[in-house]
Amino acid sequence: MEILLDKNLKMPIYIQIAEQIKTQIITKELLPGMSLPPERKLATQLGVNRSTVLNAYNSLKQEGYIEAQVGRGTIVVSTEESGPDINEVKEPCWSQLFNLQVKEFDNLLMRDTLPLINPDHVISFGLGIANPDEEPLLPFEELAKEVATNPRCKALTLTPIGGYQSLRTILAASVRKKSIPCVAEQVMVVTGSQQGIDLATRILIEPGDIVVVEAPTYFLGLQSFRAAGARIMEVPTDRNGMRIDQLELLLKRYHPKMIYTMPNYQNPSSVCMSLDRRKRLVELAQKHDIMIIEDDVYGEFHYENEELPALAALDRSGHVIYLKTFSKCISPGLRLGYMVAHKKIIETCSLVRQGEDVHPNSISQWLVEYFLSHTDMDSYLADVCERNRKKRDLMNEEILKYAPSGMTFVKPKGGIYIWCRLPDNVNASKLLEATLKRNVAFMPGNTFFLSEEGEHYIRLNFSYPKAAQIREGIRVICEETRYLSQSKKSEEIHNSELVPLY
Ligand code: PMP
Repeated sequence: MEILLDKNLKMPIYIQIAEQIKTQIITKELLPGMSLPPERKLATQLGVNRSTVLNAYNSLKQEGYIEAQVGRGTIVVSTEESGPDINEVKEPCWSQLFNLQVKEFDNLLMRDTLPLINPDHVISFGLGIANPDEEPLLPFEELAKEVATNPRCKALTLTPIGGYQSLRTILAASVRKKSIPCVAEQVMVVTGSQQGIDLATRILIEPGDIVVVEAPTYFLGLQSFRAAGARIMEVPTDRNGMRIDQLELLLKRYHPKMIYTMPNYQNPSSVCMSLDRRKRLVELAQKHDIMIIEDDVYGEFHYENEELPALAALDRSGHVIYLKTFSKCISPGLRLGYMVAHKKIIETCSLVRQGEDVHPNSISQWLVEYFLSHTDMDSYLADVCERNRKKRDLMNEEILKYAPSGMTFVKPKGGIYIWCRLPDNVNASKLLEATLKRNVAFMPGNTFFLSEEGEHYIRLNFSYPKAAQIREGIRVICEETRYLSQSKKSEEIHNSELVPLY
């Protein structure tokens, strides 16, 4: 009788044993009348306590699958006669079913936190998108006309794996404006830049390869790297972005395969990598033959700085995979972004993608191509930035007005987040619990680090909430931070009073 135990599962061991025996009885691998091994023998075979096997057998007895018979030990009961109805519809045993990779997706914090920051119920600073009321109207009327006059129009049919050639040509031209050398064949339209991260990871990373990320970093990037079996190493950031001196130390000891970075207003800290560091990073990648994923999701949102060159503009060797999205500046529901990379990378990603989503959504591509071709994008983006800049200023003022001592942050020069450090004695998850009771949400910092370091940070998005919500919500967060900080202090004093003095 073969039983496989997984000590990492949350399911108790005795249930794992019982479930597997039950399955073998139902599938007739174990037939009525057959004896099960004595408890002690099975316990030794499985390397568990005898009481664990005893518990498993007891639960099977209670369910009518086995019984103890004098002189014969424990035997399988005829399920037709006395066991439960074998035609009973039962769910699969999920915990046994899923492969090991899926466990990497089980980010409890995200699973538990995301529904809580759902904007329907709360003032949410937890998202990373524009307010839908401020998003542009997409050209659905034009699309309807196109479809009515031409039912075979390209919005309704298959596209090449990398997207419409016409859209790729437009995107290549816009990328060249950033001094990134690019032709349409180097562009792949992707289903959001998330897919770009994932595809790049899938073609480059083998289990055990090292991926370097900034600390803090974007949590869904981490998810892709983990799923590919990567060993992830963090490099700290400061006001000038990734600490390249620290990266160099790491490179001396390890040989990473890939570096994931957000040089422009990174998520969550909104810091921008300095020009010197950008140049050095590209040099290092070339010297050590490491691929860089440059995730430029927030590159449009400059409020003060001059635009710095992208890493892809500093590289002529093909070591940079450059990613952009339409989620932040047009609409997240389009699920459209693009990757710019060496043709070899694009070709290889295309091979992998065929088995994934085949090609980007045709309707979304049609809408984006129409929008880009009929909009003065420079002035459109200037308007978006102006709106965001005002909200950033408002959030900044409100935090300054209400923040208790020990709560610190740097006013970001771009992006859509303010990254706050809480007083040392306040924990972000506890704070979220408290603010949710008052219908205000944010993203706790834990998600963005591999370690526990994030417990004292919160990420506050200012592009989604409206001005009145920023005023109200920031006041609530600051008040709750103050309460927690003070109650912790009084708890500490109280506890110290209880400590016996020797
Ligand atoms: N990268 C970063 C840094 C992000 O913040 C996000 C979205 N929050 C993404 C990638 C994914 O964006 P998309 O909607 O284009 O998949």
